[in-house]
Amino acid sequence: TPAPLWVFADQLGPHVHSSDETKDREVVIVESARALGRRRGHRQKAHLLLSGMRHLADELGDRATHLKTDTYREALEKVGRPVVVHQPTSRRAEAFVAAMAEEGLVAEVLPTPTFALSREDFAEWAGNRTSFVMENFYRDQRRRFEVLMDGKDPEGGTWNLDAENREKPPKKQETLGVPEPWWPTEDEIDEQVRRDLDGMDVQWSGTDGPRRFAVTADEAQQALTTFVDTRLSTFGPYEDAVMAADWTMSHSLLSVPFNLGVLHPLDAARAAEKAYRDGDAPLASVEGFVRQILGWREYVWHLYWHLDESYIDKNEMGADTPLPPWFASLDAEEVTAACLSDALAGVHDRGWVHHIPRLMILGNHALQQGYDPRALTRWFTEHFVDGYEWVMPVNVVGMSQHADGGIIATKPYASGGAYIDRMTDYCKGCAYDPKKRLGEDACPFTAGYWAFTHRHRDLLSSNMRTRRAVSSMDRLKDLDDVLEQEKKRTSF
Ligand code: FAD
Ligand code: SF4
Repeated sequence: TPAPLWVFADQLGPHVHSSDETKDREVVIVESARALGRRRGHRQKAHLLLSGMRHLADELGDRATHLKTDTYREALEKVGRPVVVHQPTSRRAEAFVAAMAEEGLVAEVLPTPTFALSREDFAEWAGNRTSFVMENFYRDQRRRFEVLMDGKDPEGGTWNLDAENREKPPKKQETLGVPEPWWPTEDEIDEQVRRDLDGMDVQWSGTDGPRRFAVTADEAQQALTTFVDTRLSTFGPYEDAVMAADWTMSHSLLSVPFNLGVLHPLDAARAAEKAYRDGDAPLASVEGFVRQILGWREYVWHLYWHLDESYIDKNEMGADTPLPPWFASLDAEEVTAACLSDALAGVHDRGWVHHIPRLMILGNHALQQGYDPRALTRWFTEHFVDGYEWVMPVNVVGMSQHADGGIIATKPYASGGAYIDRMTDYCKGCAYDPKKRLGEDACPFTAGYWAFTHRHRDLLSSNMRTRRAVSSMDRLKDLDDVLEQEKKRTSF
């Protein structure tokens, strides 16, 4: 019989365990108490991981060997013969697998099957580049996988329809008013997971709650189909909008199944393309969605491996403010700013908020306040249900904090209350006023933006894309007062 296949908790799909190379193997699924408890993570993430592994063990029946041990090593020793494993998704796990191979517990390491592009192909694409433009990578992905192509040209004549995808939240509505996403139905496996987590001596972050994300291939397929059939058309236009009473908006909620490895990115991209070809969804929405999956997600993954290991420690903006206790502990009650409070509450209650709260509210706040990017990276990894080490360098260090000095993004994503007021509906119910930079009700994002611009004036004035911010700042008559006020700010 062929060597058993050991799957990690984020390698749970049929493209992992039932490929030509793996379909005849026994599947080893390991719940390692130490791996689970090592990092204080969101309670609901621990639930998703355990639920995913146990559902797979259940689905595979006799083919699965489901082990609950203290460590992975203990489990591999129990298996009693060398296993085959796919390349894991973190450096730490990669080093562990290499050590196990040295000791003869791992017989072979197969390439990661949960992304569209292989690491070899990425290395070839990257060549000697030192700066990385996502748009170029994305176009090559479209060409390579023939998604939304019209011969050699992009479908519809343009590669990027972002300009059509910037609608503000609709006025006079509390919610976007699109059909509900697919929701899982919990079963006995989930109940047992909940009981087991209650009994574990680990300080989880956030709170328990109903399972909200797909953890099996079958569930992921249902979630994808519901999204493509009922929500994809509105995904594009409202991609950047945030509404207080609508936490899902028209987003897909697929990052968890993607990251658990139960949904393959090409399957999702092709399903979206089919909706366009069948006349069921507009090109701008479909292109926007495909860009997230075949562009951003793949790019973030490959750069995790391609960039130097020290990239994660970069701090080119010299940010060294420790995370305040209320931020670290997700204490939304401590926060007056409606937008920030709601984003923190979302992370606490669900371990998930969509892209714009992550980038333009949480990330923007951290950037303005100069939070230590390493601490912030840990914060994102710990508190999000879809948080994995490989997602962090590009998203947190690069995009959100500009801590890499511009390797990933051409400018820091700092913005004041005016942006948040335009793209969200928080400001009308907030004690602060987005237009005010001075006084009791000065918006901390607006005032914080000017303080940030002042702190980094040299950097910002040497960049074409941010130069105007500095000249606008220089025209503010009350700048000194704003800076004085922000220096003393202790609450938000
Ligand atoms: P949708 O908006 O429906 O997008 C579809 C899919 O595209 C997502 O499921 C995701 O797989 C992919 N995607 C889109 N943008 C990105 C991106 N920048 N990086 C990786 N994948 C992307 N994503 C994670 O999966 N895990 C994280 O821990 C994570 N942390 C983030 C931290 C910051 C500061 C920022 C700015 C972004 C982060 N993202 C992360 C990316 C993105 O915000 C989430 O993937 C998305 O919000 C998940 O919701 P969704 O599945 O409804 O996504
Ligand atoms: Fe956020 Fe400022 Fe608007 Fe309040 S006024 S919701 S703090 S942007």
